[in-house]
Amino acid sequence: MSTERTFSIIKPDATRRNLTGGVTKMLEDAGLRVVASKRIHMTKEQAEGFYAVHAERPFFNDLVSFMISGPVVVQVLEGENAMARNREVMGATNPANADEGTIRKVYAESIEANTVHGSDSLENAAIEIAYFFKPEEIVG
Ligand code: ADP
Ligand code: MG
Repeated sequence: MSTERTFSIIKPDATRRNLTGGVTKMLEDAGLRVVASKRIHMTKEQAEGFYAVHAERPFFNDLVSFMISGPVVVQVLEGENAMARNREVMGATNPANADEGTIRKVYAESIEANTVHGSDSLENAAIEIAYFFKPEEIVG
């Protein structure tokens, strides 16, 4: 077991429905601690850069449009095995396949508007945290 940090985004479908608190409560109930948080409206360039790994996927342009369609809340989450723990509580990408009690099962609207982003490796977590936060903005 080790204390890790991972990166989370509460996506525009959730901020639009006033679910910042609801999603954050599920993260906290899963044992994750919010050690940095800010509400931002991403630029197109920021969203394209963030999702560059998906640039060749057919849904890329729609995904970028969705991610800039409203505010998001970017967060750093800390806890035991935080990366895997967060992926667990998020649930499957497609809410139709998400387990009961997961954030996406409870809140997601569709495979695209699926309420949360979470880093998929510790390496990516470090990259994604640095993309949005300065070290002094993270207070554990
Ligand atoms: P995850 O967010 O579970 O790690 P991916 O990294 O594969 O999933 O995809 C990134 C995001 O792209 C998803 O969270 C979702 O918003 C969107 N997405 C993924 N697959 C599709 C799809 N088939 N159609 C539309 N949007 C998708
Ligand atoms: Mg992913």
